[in-house]
Amino acid sequence: MLEVAVYDTKPYDREYLPAVAEAGTIRWRFHEFRLSAETVPAARGAGAVCVFVNDLVDAAVIKALSESGVRLIALRCAGFNNVDLAAAKAAGISVVRVPAYSPHAVAEHAVALLLALNRKIHRSYNRVRELNFSLARLVGSNVQGKTIGVIGTGKIGKIAAQIFRGFDATVLAYDPMPSPDWAAQHGVRYAELPALLAASDIITLHLPLLPETKHLLNATTLALMKRGVTIVNTSRGKLIDTKALIRALKTGQIGGVALDVYEEEEGIFFEDLSGQVLQDDVLSRLLTFPNVLITAHQGFFTHEALQEIARVTVENILKLETKTPFLDGTRL
Ligand code: NAD
Repeated sequence: MLEVAVYDTKPYDREYLPAVAEAGTIRWRFHEFRLSAETVPAARGAGAVCVFVNDLVDAAVIKALSESGVRLIALRCAGFNNVDLAAAKAAGISVVRVPAYSPHAVAEHAVALLLALNRKIHRSYNRVRELNFSLARLVGSNVQGKTIGVIGTGKIGKIAAQIFRGFDATVLAYDPMPSPDWAAQHGVRYAELPALLAASDIITLHLPLLPETKHLLNATTLALMKRGVTIVNTSRGKLIDTKALIRALKTGQIGGVALDVYEEEEGIFFEDLSGQVLQDDVLSRLLTFPNVLITAHQGFFTHEALQEIARVTVENILKLETKTPFLDGTRL
């Protein structure tokens, strides 16, 4: 039976991974700690390791994995910036991932965040629990009739745009690789980025973090936006210069922010830090704004997406034994 060392295990990994693997095919070894040079020995005897976004899979770790007999690194996520692919290739270790699990999960979360923020659901929920049924300061606004700027129209951005069209909103989109047929079919209009920034009441980010997209929203681009604009980011924290965002929130240039990601989320998001003193002063400041709503990178976190991640990961791992080709787009 193939042994798989699973690093950075969360309770849902223990639930979903074994559920999709046929009995007797994989022996799971779940570790709560992350993969690093110190924790490689916990992979000894395993044919494969299964890792997530914050495991460190650099050249030194890969060398040690190879020496301990590991033949496959199975990422249970789409991103792979934490893996040294060249080192893996040189060591003869295959690297596989889950290229797409549920774009709907992330798009729906972006919309959920926007509606909650816009209609102040986070505030009224707390109020009603205190038996405060007053509507004071809870006035929201309709999405219908607004202009929504969708930056990035890949898998997730397209679905978000389509959902917003269902609200009878005007949708502007920007993407260096536009999809004109899709846009025509769904009544979406492409615009250049400055025009989108200037015209949108709500701006939602669905593009990847690349060297050229880091701090796409910064003091200059935030100043191009309509006063009182709402920003939604479910993509990557570093797409926004958070300090510039805070300054723009303080002046009222930005009217509301909904975030599922944060620049310095590593070591904070996915962890229970309740009862501790939060050391990140920028995040602490963000959390004080009444018009900022933050979730801790849970866009992907639906039953359907977890099932799909587990299904593709197990399929990838089992292909190692049967030596059959990996699924399209999964092998890196
Ligand atoms: P995708 O690759 O299908 O689409 C990304 C799109 O962005 C592409 O169309 C690309 O052309 C476009 N793009 C590239 N550079 C751009 C730029 N400078 N300006 C505008 N558009 C640009 O990716 P996807 O599956 O739609 O995912 C989008 C992002 O969502 C991912 O990069 C990831 O960071 C994030 N994500 C978040 C979660 C979560 O749980 N919150 C989960 C999965 C993905």
